[in-house]
Amino acid sequence: MDNAFLPLPKLLELVLPDYYNHRMNRYEHALALYPYFGHSTTAMGIFPPTGLEYIVASMKDLVGKVTLLDLRYERSYQDLKTLSTFIRDNIDLLCISIQWHSCFKQVCDFISQLPHEVCTVAGGYKATQEVEYLFERCPNVDMIVRGEGEEIIKQIVTGVPYENIRGLSYRRNERIVHNEIHALPDITRISFPDRSLRQHDYRAVVYGARISNHTFDTLLTTRGCPFKCKFCTFSLNPLGQKRSYTERPVESVIEELKTVEASVVQLSDDNFFTNPKRSEELCDLIIENNIKKTFIVQARIDIAKYPRLLKKAERAGFKVFIIGIESPHDWILEQLQKGITQQQVRDAFAVLTQYDFYLHGYFIYGNIGETEEEMLCIPKFAKEIKLDSISFQKLRIEKFSPLKEVVEATPGYYYNSSHIGGSVYSERYGHVELKQIRNRIRSEFYDLGQIIHIIRKAIRIGLFSWRDLSVAFPNLPLLMYRLARRKRHKKK
Ligand code: SF4
Repeated sequence: MDNAFLPLPKLLELVLPDYYNHRMNRYEHALALYPYFGHSTTAMGIFPPTGLEYIVASMKDLVGKVTLLDLRYERSYQDLKTLSTFIRDNIDLLCISIQWHSCFKQVCDFISQLPHEVCTVAGGYKATQEVEYLFERCPNVDMIVRGEGEEIIKQIVTGVPYENIRGLSYRRNERIVHNEIHALPDITRISFPDRSLRQHDYRAVVYGARISNHTFDTLLTTRGCPFKCKFCTFSLNPLGQKRSYTERPVESVIEELKTVEASVVQLSDDNFFTNPKRSEELCDLIIENNIKKTFIVQARIDIAKYPRLLKKAERAGFKVFIIGIESPHDWILEQLQKGITQQQVRDAFAVLTQYDFYLHGYFIYGNIGETEEEMLCIPKFAKEIKLDSISFQKLRIEKFSPLKEVVEATPGYYYNSSHIGGSVYSERYGHVELKQIRNRIRSEFYDLGQIIHIIRKAIRIGLFSWRDLSVAFPNLPLLMYRLARRKRHKKK
Protein backbone atom coordinates (compact mmCIF):
# COMPACT_ATOMS: atom_id res chain seq x y z
CA MET A 1 0.00 0.00 0.00
CA ASP A 2 1.18 3.51 -0.77
CA ASN A 3 2.17 5.39 2.40
CA ALA A 4 0.04 8.33 1.27
CA PHE A 5 -3.11 6.29 2.04
CA LEU A 6 -2.12 5.26 5.55
CA PRO A 7 -3.96 6.84 8.51
CA LEU A 8 -1.92 9.70 10.03
CA PRO A 9 -0.79 7.94 13.25
CA LYS A 10 0.40 4.88 11.27
CA LEU A 11 2.16 7.11 8.77
CA LEU A 12 3.88 9.05 11.57
CA GLU A 13 4.96 5.82 13.21
CA LEU A 14 6.48 4.66 9.95
CA VAL A 15 8.28 7.78 8.87
CA LEU A 16 9.06 9.42 12.20
CA PRO A 17 9.29 6.62 14.76
CA ASP A 18 10.96 8.77 17.44
CA TYR A 19 8.38 11.52 17.04
CA TYR A 20 5.61 8.98 17.14
CA ASN A 21 6.92 7.14 20.18
CA HIS A 22 7.36 10.28 22.18
CA ARG A 23 4.36 12.28 21.08
CA MET A 24 1.58 9.77 20.68
CA ASN A 25 0.23 7.50 23.37
CA ARG A 26 1.54 4.03 22.63
CA TYR A 27 -0.95 2.62 25.10
CA GLU A 28 -4.61 3.51 25.15
CA HIS A 29 -5.64 1.97 28.43
CA ALA A 30 -3.25 0.85 31.19
CA LEU A 31 -4.37 -1.18 34.16
CA ALA A 32 -2.46 -0.72 37.43
CA LEU A 33 -3.20 -3.89 39.37
CA TYR A 34 -2.67 -4.57 43.07
CA PRO A 35 -3.10 -8.35 43.05
CA TYR A 36 -3.48 -9.07 46.78
CA PHE A 37 -6.70 -10.31 48.32
CA GLY A 38 -7.84 -12.84 50.88
CA HIS A 39 -4.59 -12.47 52.87
CA SER A 40 -4.55 -11.28 56.44
CA THR A 41 -1.34 -9.26 56.82
CA THR A 42 -2.33 -6.04 58.57
CA ALA A 43 -0.17 -3.77 56.43
CA MET A 44 -1.63 -5.35 53.32
CA GLY A 45 -5.11 -4.83 54.66
CA ILE A 46 -5.21 -1.24 55.86
CA PHE A 47 -3.09 0.94 53.64
CA PRO A 48 -3.58 1.97 50.00
CA PRO A 49 -1.17 0.68 47.34
CA THR A 50 0.93 3.84 47.40
CA GLY A 51 3.82 2.36 45.39
CA LEU A 52 1.44 1.67 42.52
CA GLU A 53 -0.06 5.14 42.84
CA TYR A 54 3.42 6.64 42.35
CA ILE A 55 3.66 4.65 39.11
CA VAL A 56 0.22 5.85 38.01
CA ALA A 57 1.26 9.46 38.68
CA SER A 58 4.33 8.99 36.48
CA MET A 59 2.53 7.52 33.48
CA LYS A 60 -0.99 8.95 33.52
CA ASP A 61 -0.23 11.85 31.12
CA LEU A 62 1.62 9.54 28.75
CA VAL A 63 -1.10 6.93 28.14
CA GLY A 64 -4.70 7.33 27.03
CA LYS A 65 -6.27 6.24 30.30
CA VAL A 66 -5.30 4.45 33.53
CA THR A 67 -7.53 2.27 35.68
CA LEU A 68 -6.38 1.18 39.12
CA LEU A 69 -7.76 -2.02 40.58
CA ASP A 70 -7.01 -2.91 44.17
CA LEU A 71 -8.25 -6.48 44.37
CA ARG A 72 -8.66 -6.32 48.16
CA TYR A 73 -11.73 -4.19 47.48
CA GLU A 74 -12.78 -5.18 43.97
CA ARG A 75 -14.51 -8.42 44.81
CA SER A 76 -15.92 -9.09 41.38
CA TYR A 77 -12.44 -8.88 39.85
CA GLN A 78 -11.05 -11.39 42.31
CA ASP A 79 -12.61 -13.91 39.98
CA LEU A 80 -9.96 -14.77 37.38
CA LYS A 81 -12.45 -15.14 34.56
CA THR A 82 -14.03 -11.73 35.15
CA LEU A 83 -10.67 -10.01 35.51
CA SER A 84 -9.27 -11.73 32.41
CA THR A 85 -12.28 -10.73 30.33
CA PHE A 86 -11.94 -7.12 31.48
CA ILE A 87 -8.24 -7.11 30.62
CA ARG A 88 -8.73 -8.77 27.23
CA ASP A 89 -11.54 -6.38 26.24
CA ASN A 90 -10.08 -3.11 27.50
CA ILE A 91 -6.42 -3.14 28.42
CA ASP A 92 -3.27 -2.89 26.34
CA LEU A 93 -0.77 -2.42 29.19
CA LEU A 94 -0.95 -4.30 32.48
CA CYS A 95 1.25 -3.03 35.35
CA ILE A 96 1.33 -5.26 38.43
CA SER A 97 2.74 -4.38 41.83
CA ILE A 98 4.40 -7.29 43.65
CA GLN A 99 5.56 -6.06 47.02
CA TRP A 100 5.17 -8.67 49.69
CA HIS A 101 7.21 -11.63 50.78
CA SER A 102 4.19 -13.39 52.17
CA CYS A 103 1.76 -14.96 49.67
CA PHE A 104 4.33 -14.51 46.91
CA LYS A 105 3.76 -17.93 45.36
CA GLN A 106 -0.03 -17.56 45.40
CA VAL A 107 0.26 -14.16 43.76
CA CYS A 108 2.57 -15.58 41.06
CA ASP A 109 0.04 -18.35 40.37
CA PHE A 110 -2.73 -15.79 40.01
CA ILE A 111 -0.74 -13.53 37.71
CA SER A 112 0.37 -16.42 35.49
CA GLN A 113 -3.27 -17.09 34.60
CA LEU A 114 -3.99 -13.57 33.35
CA PRO A 115 -4.23 -13.04 29.55
CA HIS A 116 -0.90 -13.70 27.86
CA GLU A 117 -1.59 -11.51 24.86
CA VAL A 118 -1.56 -8.23 26.87
CA CYS A 119 1.79 -6.51 27.47
CA THR A 120 2.52 -7.15 31.15
CA VAL A 121 5.00 -5.31 33.35
CA ALA A 122 5.69 -6.32 36.96
CA GLY A 123 7.47 -4.20 39.54
CA GLY A 124 7.78 -3.63 43.26
CA TYR A 125 10.02 -4.76 46.09
CA LYS A 126 9.45 -8.51 45.81
CA ALA A 127 9.39 -8.51 42.01
CA THR A 128 12.85 -6.91 42.04
CA GLN A 129 14.19 -9.49 44.45
CA GLU A 130 12.80 -12.42 42.47
CA VAL A 131 13.27 -11.41 38.85
CA GLU A 132 14.38 -14.82 37.50
CA TYR A 133 11.78 -16.75 39.46
CA LEU A 134 9.00 -14.43 38.37
CA PHE A 135 9.87 -14.75 34.68
CA GLU A 136 10.00 -18.53 35.02
CA ARG A 137 6.78 -18.83 36.99
CA CYS A 138 4.77 -16.29 34.98
CA PRO A 139 5.35 -16.75 31.23
CA ASN A 140 2.99 -13.84 30.56
CA VAL A 141 5.22 -11.29 32.34
CA ASP A 142 7.07 -9.48 29.55
CA MET A 143 9.12 -7.01 31.61
CA ILE A 144 10.18 -6.48 35.18
CA VAL A 145 11.01 -3.03 36.47
CA ARG A 146 13.80 -3.39 39.02
CA GLY A 147 14.07 -0.94 41.87
CA GLU A 148 12.15 2.31 41.97
CA GLY A 149 10.03 2.45 38.87
CA GLU A 150 8.79 6.02 38.44
CA GLU A 151 11.33 6.96 35.74
CA ILE A 152 11.44 3.51 34.16
CA ILE A 153 7.70 3.28 33.51
CA LYS A 154 7.81 6.66 31.76
CA GLN A 155 10.41 5.29 29.36
CA ILE A 156 8.40 2.12 28.72
CA VAL A 157 5.20 3.96 27.86
CA THR A 158 6.95 6.53 25.67
CA GLY A 159 8.54 3.81 23.56
CA VAL A 160 12.20 4.09 24.52
CA PRO A 161 13.76 0.88 23.11
CA TYR A 162 13.95 -1.69 25.89
CA GLU A 163 17.70 -2.10 25.55
CA ASN A 164 18.13 1.57 26.44
CA ILE A 165 16.06 1.47 29.63
CA ARG A 166 18.24 1.10 32.70
CA GLY A 167 16.68 -0.94 35.48
CA LEU A 168 14.60 -3.06 33.09
CA SER A 169 14.68 -6.85 32.64
CA TYR A 170 12.78 -8.17 29.62
CA ARG A 171 12.30 -11.15 27.35
CA ARG A 172 14.00 -11.20 23.96
CA ASN A 173 14.25 -14.23 21.66
CA GLU A 174 13.57 -16.80 24.41
CA ARG A 175 16.18 -15.13 26.63
CA ILE A 176 15.94 -12.82 29.62
CA VAL A 177 17.92 -9.61 29.23
CA HIS A 178 18.88 -7.63 32.33
CA ASN A 179 19.85 -4.04 31.66
CA GLU A 180 22.16 -2.14 33.95
CA ILE A 181 20.87 -0.77 37.23
CA HIS A 182 18.97 2.53 37.12
CA ALA A 183 20.30 5.37 39.27
CA LEU A 184 18.15 6.06 42.33
CA PRO A 185 15.56 8.69 41.42
CA ASP A 186 15.68 12.12 42.98
CA ILE A 187 12.96 12.14 45.62
CA THR A 188 12.48 15.90 45.27
CA ARG A 189 11.42 15.46 41.63
CA ILE A 190 8.97 12.59 41.98
CA SER A 191 5.26 13.48 41.60
CA PHE A 192 2.89 12.80 44.50
CA PRO A 193 1.17 9.44 44.32
CA ASP A 194 -2.04 9.73 42.31
CA ARG A 195 -4.84 9.24 44.83
CA SER A 196 -7.54 10.31 42.36
CA LEU A 197 -8.19 6.80 41.01
CA ARG A 198 -9.20 5.31 44.37
CA GLN A 199 -12.72 4.07 44.45
CA HIS A 200 -13.04 3.67 48.21
CA ASP A 201 -11.58 4.67 51.57
CA TYR A 202 -8.99 2.54 53.32
CA ARG A 203 -10.20 1.39 56.71
CA ALA A 204 -9.26 -1.07 59.43
CA VAL A 205 -11.54 -4.04 58.92
CA VAL A 206 -11.56 -7.26 60.95
CA TYR A 207 -13.69 -10.17 59.75
CA GLY A 208 -15.70 -7.80 57.61
CA ALA A 209 -16.39 -5.31 60.46
CA ARG A 210 -14.85 -1.85 60.65
CA ILE A 211 -12.75 -1.35 63.78
CA SER A 212 -13.13 2.41 63.75
CA ASN A 213 -14.23 5.34 61.66
CA HIS A 214 -10.64 6.17 60.82
CA THR A 215 -9.46 6.10 57.23
CA PHE A 216 -5.80 5.38 56.45
CA ASP A 217 -3.16 6.63 54.07
CA THR A 218 0.63 6.72 53.78
CA LEU A 219 3.01 9.50 52.86
CA LEU A 220 6.75 9.58 52.31
CA THR A 221 8.78 12.60 53.43
CA THR A 222 12.31 11.17 53.18
CA ARG A 223 14.02 8.21 51.55
CA GLY A 224 16.87 6.20 53.00
CA CYS A 225 18.48 6.00 56.41
CA PRO A 226 21.99 7.03 57.43
CA PHE A 227 22.36 4.19 59.97
CA LYS A 228 23.87 0.82 59.16
CA CYS A 229 22.12 -1.76 61.35
CA LYS A 230 23.47 -5.09 60.22
CA PHE A 231 20.18 -6.99 59.96
CA CYS A 232 18.36 -4.26 58.06
CA THR A 233 17.65 -4.08 54.38
CA PHE A 234 15.12 -1.24 54.70
CA SER A 235 17.86 1.23 54.06
CA LEU A 236 18.77 -0.61 50.84
CA ASN A 237 16.62 -0.66 47.77
CA PRO A 238 15.69 -4.15 46.52
CA LEU A 239 18.80 -4.18 44.34
CA GLY A 240 21.01 -3.89 47.40
CA GLN A 241 21.89 -0.24 46.69
CA LYS A 242 22.20 1.85 49.83
CA ARG A 243 19.64 4.60 49.56
CA SER A 244 21.39 7.76 50.56
CA TYR A 245 19.26 9.74 52.96
CA THR A 246 17.32 12.40 51.06
CA GLU A 247 14.62 14.78 52.20
CA ARG A 248 11.68 16.25 50.38
CA PRO A 249 11.27 20.00 50.87
CA VAL A 250 8.95 20.50 53.85
CA GLU A 251 6.67 22.76 51.77
CA SER A 252 6.10 19.92 49.30
CA VAL A 253 5.21 17.54 52.16
CA ILE A 254 2.67 20.04 53.50
CA GLU A 255 1.24 20.57 50.02
CA GLU A 256 0.74 16.81 49.64
CA LEU A 257 -0.66 16.45 53.17
CA LYS A 258 -3.33 19.02 52.34
CA THR A 259 -4.57 16.74 49.58
CA VAL A 260 -4.81 13.68 51.84
CA GLU A 261 -8.31 13.00 53.05
CA ALA A 262 -7.62 10.09 55.41
CA SER A 263 -7.72 10.75 59.15
CA VAL A 264 -4.71 8.53 59.94
CA VAL A 265 -1.47 8.98 58.00
CA GLN A 266 1.48 6.69 58.31
CA LEU A 267 4.67 8.57 57.47
CA SER A 268 6.53 5.74 55.83
CA ASP A 269 10.05 7.15 56.29
CA ASP A 270 12.50 4.67 57.80
CA ASN A 271 12.99 7.13 60.66
CA PHE A 272 10.94 10.30 60.56
CA PHE A 273 13.23 12.02 63.09
CA THR A 274 16.59 11.47 61.37
CA ASN A 275 16.98 15.25 61.06
CA PRO A 276 15.34 16.63 64.23
CA LYS A 277 15.51 20.24 63.01
CA ARG A 278 13.53 19.36 59.89
CA SER A 279 11.06 17.20 61.85
CA GLU A 280 10.42 20.14 64.16
CA GLU A 281 9.88 22.42 61.19
CA LEU A 282 7.37 19.96 59.77
CA CYS A 283 5.51 19.74 63.09
CA ASP A 284 5.37 23.57 63.19
CA LEU A 285 3.96 23.68 59.65
CA ILE A 286 1.37 21.00 60.40
CA ILE A 287 0.19 23.03 63.41
CA GLU A 288 0.26 26.37 61.53
CA ASN A 289 -1.69 24.94 58.60
CA ASN A 290 -4.25 23.47 60.96
CA ILE A 291 -3.81 19.98 59.50
CA LYS A 292 -5.73 17.65 61.78
CA LYS A 293 -4.53 14.09 61.39
CA THR A 294 -3.33 11.22 63.50
CA PHE A 295 0.22 10.35 62.49
CA ILE A 296 2.01 7.03 62.78
CA VAL A 297 5.81 7.23 62.57
CA GLN A 298 8.85 5.00 62.77
CA ALA A 299 11.56 6.29 65.06
CA ARG A 300 14.78 5.46 66.86
CA ILE A 301 15.14 5.95 70.59
CA ASP A 302 17.33 9.03 69.93
CA ILE A 303 14.11 11.02 69.63
CA ALA A 304 13.90 11.04 73.45
CA LYS A 305 16.78 13.55 73.50
CA TYR A 306 14.57 16.24 71.98
CA PRO A 307 11.82 17.18 74.45
CA ARG A 308 10.79 20.33 72.54
CA LEU A 309 10.34 18.28 69.37
CA LEU A 310 8.35 15.64 71.28
CA LYS A 311 5.99 18.33 72.61
CA LYS A 312 5.45 19.73 69.14
CA ALA A 313 4.96 16.23 67.69
CA GLU A 314 2.27 15.62 70.33
CA ARG A 315 0.51 18.87 69.38
CA ALA A 316 0.81 18.11 65.66
CA GLY A 317 -1.07 14.80 66.08
CA PHE A 318 1.75 12.26 66.24
CA LYS A 319 0.22 9.47 68.25
CA VAL A 320 1.77 6.14 67.33
CA PHE A 321 5.53 5.62 67.53
CA ILE A 322 6.97 2.42 66.12
CA ILE A 323 10.44 1.99 67.56
CA GLY A 324 13.07 -0.60 66.63
CA ILE A 325 14.60 -1.90 69.85
CA GLU A 326 15.55 -5.34 68.52
CA SER A 327 16.98 -6.87 71.71
CA PRO A 328 17.28 -6.37 75.46
CA HIS A 329 20.88 -7.65 75.37
CA ASP A 330 23.88 -5.43 74.80
CA TRP A 331 25.92 -8.14 73.11
CA ILE A 332 23.15 -8.73 70.55
CA LEU A 333 22.64 -5.00 69.97
CA GLU A 334 26.34 -4.83 69.26
CA GLN A 335 26.21 -7.86 66.94
CA LEU A 336 23.37 -6.18 65.03
CA GLN A 337 25.25 -2.88 65.01
CA LYS A 338 22.14 -1.13 66.23
CA GLY A 339 24.19 1.63 67.84
CA ILE A 340 22.26 1.63 71.13
CA THR A 341 22.58 -0.06 74.53
CA GLN A 342 20.03 -1.55 76.90
CA GLN A 343 20.57 1.33 79.34
CA GLN A 344 19.99 3.89 76.60
CA VAL A 345 16.74 2.13 75.72
CA ARG A 346 15.64 2.28 79.38
CA ASP A 347 16.56 5.97 79.65
CA ALA A 348 14.76 6.82 76.41
CA PHE A 349 11.55 5.08 77.48
CA ALA A 350 11.63 6.82 80.86
CA VAL A 351 11.21 10.02 78.80
CA LEU A 352 8.88 8.77 76.04
CA THR A 353 6.34 7.29 78.46
CA GLN A 354 5.73 10.76 79.90
CA TYR A 355 3.94 11.74 76.69
CA ASP A 356 0.62 10.56 75.37
CA PHE A 357 2.13 8.47 72.60
CA TYR A 358 1.19 4.90 71.85
CA LEU A 359 4.56 3.10 71.88
CA HIS A 360 5.06 -0.03 69.81
CA GLY A 361 8.42 -1.85 69.86
CA TYR A 362 10.03 -4.17 67.35
CA PHE A 363 12.20 -7.06 68.54
CA ILE A 364 14.24 -9.77 66.83
CA TYR A 365 14.65 -13.21 68.37
CA GLY A 366 16.71 -16.22 67.29
CA ASN A 367 19.86 -14.11 66.93
CA ILE A 368 23.18 -15.83 66.36
CA GLY A 369 24.25 -17.41 69.66
CA GLU A 370 21.09 -16.35 71.52
CA THR A 371 19.76 -18.89 74.03
CA GLU A 372 16.11 -19.63 74.71
CA GLU A 373 16.39 -17.94 78.08
CA GLU A 374 17.77 -14.80 76.44
CA MET A 375 14.99 -14.78 73.83
CA LEU A 376 12.39 -15.06 76.56
CA CYS A 377 13.70 -11.87 78.19
CA ILE A 378 11.84 -9.88 75.49
CA PRO A 379 8.37 -9.79 77.13
CA LYS A 380 9.77 -8.98 80.58
CA PHE A 381 11.99 -6.22 79.25
CA ALA A 382 9.19 -4.79 77.08
CA LYS A 383 6.95 -4.54 80.13
CA GLU A 384 9.72 -3.01 82.24
CA ILE A 385 10.21 -0.16 79.79
CA LYS A 386 6.40 0.17 79.48
CA LEU A 387 5.92 -0.53 75.80
CA ASP A 388 2.23 -0.60 74.90
CA SER A 389 2.60 -3.36 72.34
CA ILE A 390 5.35 -5.30 70.63
CA SER A 391 5.99 -7.30 67.52
CA PHE A 392 8.81 -9.79 67.19
CA GLN A 393 10.36 -11.50 64.22
CA LYS A 394 12.82 -14.30 63.78
CA LEU A 395 16.19 -13.12 62.55
CA ARG A 396 15.95 -13.09 58.76
CA ILE A 397 18.45 -12.91 55.97
CA GLU A 398 17.24 -10.99 52.96
CA LYS A 399 19.07 -11.17 49.65
CA PHE A 400 21.52 -8.33 50.38
CA SER A 401 21.58 -8.57 54.14
CA PRO A 402 25.00 -7.72 55.59
CA LEU A 403 24.40 -10.45 58.20
CA LYS A 404 24.49 -13.17 55.55
CA GLU A 405 28.25 -13.65 55.83
CA VAL A 406 28.06 -13.88 59.62
CA VAL A 407 25.46 -16.65 59.45
CA GLU A 408 27.42 -18.49 56.76
CA ALA A 409 30.58 -18.32 58.89
CA THR A 410 28.91 -19.52 62.10
CA PRO A 411 28.96 -23.31 62.52
CA GLY A 412 25.53 -24.78 63.22
CA TYR A 413 23.61 -21.78 61.80
CA TYR A 414 21.68 -21.77 58.55
CA TYR A 415 19.19 -19.63 56.69
CA ASN A 416 16.40 -20.54 54.40
CA SER A 417 17.45 -19.20 51.02
CA SER A 418 14.34 -20.37 49.14
CA HIS A 419 12.04 -17.81 47.57
CA ILE A 420 9.72 -17.87 50.53
CA GLY A 421 12.19 -18.29 53.36
CA GLY A 422 15.04 -16.21 54.66
CA SER A 423 14.69 -16.97 58.37
CA VAL A 424 17.75 -18.04 60.33
CA TYR A 425 17.73 -21.27 62.33
CA SER A 426 20.32 -23.42 64.02
CA GLU A 427 20.94 -27.02 65.02
CA ARG A 428 19.81 -26.12 68.54
CA TYR A 429 16.86 -23.92 67.54
CA GLY A 430 15.04 -25.19 64.45
CA HIS A 431 11.70 -23.94 63.13
CA VAL A 432 9.69 -25.90 65.70
CA GLU A 433 11.67 -24.64 68.69
CA LEU A 434 11.60 -21.06 67.43
CA LYS A 435 7.85 -21.27 66.92
CA GLN A 436 7.38 -22.47 70.51
CA ILE A 437 9.57 -19.63 71.77
CA ARG A 438 7.59 -17.13 69.69
CA ASN A 439 4.34 -18.39 71.21
CA ARG A 440 5.79 -18.00 74.70
CA ILE A 441 6.98 -14.44 73.99
CA ARG A 442 3.50 -13.61 72.73
CA SER A 443 1.57 -15.14 75.60
CA GLU A 444 3.90 -13.72 78.26
CA PHE A 445 3.59 -10.20 76.89
CA TYR A 446 -0.03 -10.15 75.77
CA ASP A 447 -1.65 -11.23 79.02
CA LEU A 448 -5.01 -9.94 80.18
CA GLY A 449 -3.55 -6.89 81.96
CA GLN A 450 -1.68 -5.85 78.80
CA ILE A 451 -4.72 -6.25 76.57
CA ILE A 452 -6.80 -4.11 78.92
CA HIS A 453 -4.01 -1.54 79.02
CA ILE A 454 -3.83 -1.43 75.18
CA ILE A 455 -7.58 -0.96 74.86
CA ARG A 456 -7.70 1.77 77.48
CA LYS A 457 -4.75 3.65 76.05
CA ALA A 458 -5.93 3.43 72.46
CA ILE A 459 -9.33 4.79 73.54
CA ARG A 460 -7.78 7.52 75.71
CA ILE A 461 -5.62 8.90 72.91
CA GLY A 462 -8.42 8.60 70.36
CA LEU A 463 -7.26 5.71 68.20
CA PHE A 464 -10.68 4.10 68.57
CA SER A 465 -13.73 4.23 70.84
CA TRP A 466 -15.55 1.69 73.04
CA ARG A 467 -18.33 1.70 70.49
CA ASP A 468 -15.90 0.83 67.67
CA LEU A 469 -14.62 -2.05 69.77
CA SER A 470 -17.99 -3.50 70.61
CA VAL A 471 -18.98 -3.40 66.92
CA ALA A 472 -15.74 -5.02 65.73
CA PHE A 473 -15.39 -7.54 68.55
CA PRO A 474 -18.83 -8.44 69.91
CA ASN A 475 -17.23 -11.37 71.74
CA LEU A 476 -14.66 -9.23 73.55
CA PRO A 477 -16.19 -9.58 77.05
CA LEU A 478 -16.27 -13.36 76.59
CA LEU A 479 -12.67 -13.40 75.38
CA MET A 480 -11.55 -11.39 78.39
CA TYR A 481 -13.39 -13.69 80.75
CA ARG A 482 -11.65 -16.70 79.19
CA LEU A 483 -8.23 -15.04 79.44
CA ALA A 484 -8.82 -14.21 83.10
CA ARG A 485 -9.91 -17.79 83.75
CA ARG A 486 -6.83 -19.18 82.02
CA LYS A 487 -4.65 -16.88 84.09
CA ARG A 488 -6.28 -18.02 87.34
CA HIS A 489 -5.87 -21.62 86.24
CA LYS A 490 -2.16 -21.13 85.55
CA LYS A 491 -1.58 -19.60 88.99
CA LYS A 492 -3.03 -22.68 90.68
S1 SF4 B 1 16.91 -0.58 61.37
FE1 SF4 B 1 16.14 1.47 61.15
S2 SF4 B 1 17.81 2.77 61.86
FE2 SF4 B 1 18.72 0.78 61.39
S3 SF4 B 1 19.40 0.94 59.27
FE3 SF4 B 1 17.34 0.06 59.25
S4 SF4 B 1 16.01 1.79 58.94
FE4 SF4 B 1 17.98 2.61 59.61
